Amino acid sequence: MFKRVIVWFRNDLRVHDHAPLFYASQKAEEVIPVYCFDPRNFGKVNLEIDKTGNHRARFLIESVDNLKNNLVNLGGDLVILQGKPEELLVDIAKKYQVDAIFFSEEVTSEEKKVELNLEGHAWKHGIKTTAYWQSSLYNIQDLPFPVMQTPEVFTQFRKECEKFAKVQPTLPTPKQIKFPNNLNDLGEMPELSTFGLKEPDHSSRSVLVFKGGETEGIRRLQAYFWEKDLLKVYKETRNGLLGSDYSSKFSAWLSMGCLSPRFIYEEVKRYEKERKKNQSTYWLIFELIWRDYFRFICKKHGEKVFQLGGIKNNVDKWSRNENYFWRWANGETGIPFIDANMRELNETGFMSNRGRQNVASFLVNDLGIDWRWGAMYFESQLIDYDVCSNWGNWMYVAGVGNDPRENRYFNIMRQAQNYDRKGDYIRHWIQELAEIPGFDIHQPFELSTSQLKNYKVVLGSTYPHPLVRYKAWI
Ligand SMILES: Cc1cc2nc3c(=O)[nH]c(=O)nc-3n(C[C@H](O)[C@H](O)[C@H](O)COP(=O)(O)OP(=O)(O)OC[C@H]3O[C@@H](n4cnc5c(N)ncnc54)[C@H](O)[C@@H]3O)c2cc1C
Repeated sequence: MFKRVIVWFRNDLRVHDHAPLFYASQKAEEVIPVYCFDPRNFGKVNLEIDKTGNHRARFLIESVDNLKNNLVNLGGDLVILQGKPEELLVDIAKKYQVDAIFFSEEVTSEEKKVELNLEGHAWKHGIKTTAYWQSSLYNIQDLPFPVMQTPEVFTQFRKECEKFAKVQPTLPTPKQIKFPNNLNDLGEMPELSTFGLKEPDHSSRSVLVFKGGETEGIRRLQAYFWEKDLLKVYKETRNGLLGSDYSSKFSAWLSMGCLSPRFIYEEVKRYEKERKKNQSTYWLIFELIWRDYFRFICKKHGEKVFQLGGIKNNVDKWSRNENYFWRWANGETGIPFIDANMRELNETGFMSNRGRQNVASFLVNDLGIDWRWGAMYFESQLIDYDVCSNWGNWMYVAGVGNDPRENRYFNIMRQAQNYDRKGDYIRHWIQELAEIPGFDIHQPFELSTSQLKNYKVVLGSTYPHPLVRYKAWI
């Protein structure tokens, strides 16, 4: 039994199914939950892009705030710090005679480095550290292969996990958290301006009002599964583009750990028992296995997932045309399907899976631009940015991952035909084209100047000429 334990919260901003919190509440007389805003996660990176953009930063602040409330409801509280966790946590531990620091283990290099520094620093001061694995559906210990032998191909990974591994039950939320009563400096919640960011405008066009925090995440699950009863049609609707209900939208809450994947799994199982079991209910779990797959692949391959050649060491020739890149990023390529998706991302911090695949393929395959620029831009903008899912998916699209299908080329016009035949998605996001009827809205560059005039469009003025055009699209 410990006298005092710090629980360091990272991308696990919840009290349900939380291993460090659960074990601390069992093993320690008093628990000090801490969250640390690390300045290294903010500020500018290459191309003057914000490492964390304002949508995600806002979601993060809301999630930390909600975590604090949920801890207070359990009798605890949350200490909020700003600085390097590896230094500040040890300072607090020394000040309040803490015996151990419990935290959730991460996968990729930046996060690992912080963990290692913390462990080294704490050890020097006689403070124990314990890392718990908890970010995936399948526990790392339960994989039917050593993680360094994770199958390269998703289907093999999935089949082995489904056959030989078991999803562990969720851990109960602690009934009570005993917080030391002599701890009076609880720190302050930062504002977006602390990180040099502006408050994002509220978008009335967003698929959903994404509000950070465990409470909202559970509310979304409750609505999607139980109130709207949508899980049973997920497989048919999941490739949609418009509205709140075509897919679960769990990703933002999953990426900050506001929702535990095992909790979702248990709710799917309950739904299957109480409502319906079909291909759709299975498919949501299937997608969560994709999430696991990228996590374990990133663990296996380390730094490679951030390098140009990726896992394949496939150093093709990539362009670094900044002008083209920014036209892509700003939604000004002159190709409506790309622009609409990028505008949605910039305005709301979210984009559908179908959209992500198309804009990523367009950047790397049609424009030939360094895929890491795209991944970096998504990292900044996505409200649901998850290091493994993002860099893993980008590698995949760029053909430097481990996809056995060589060509991940998406034919933009064919995709538009399949997923937005009437052009409603474009009309929603590109006002200046809104008057063009039907599918024509996807290809204003195919219309004559007089036709365009009827629709109040002047290419090169009200909407850009297309950056590129391929015969293959027609
Ligand atoms: C280029 C690119 C970048 C991406 N970057 C991210 C990212 O940073 N963070 C992120 O969470 N997802 C990422 N994805 C995966 C996927 O697009 C999103 O998870 C999904 O669109 C989120 O919407 P949803 O929660 O409604 O998904 P649903 O369709 O409801 O799926 C349920 C959950 O399954 C998981 N999932 C679904 N598809 C994938 C996938 N392809 N890879 C990994 N997990 C998946 C997610 O956790 C998702 O919340 C990326 C995909 C591409 C092509």
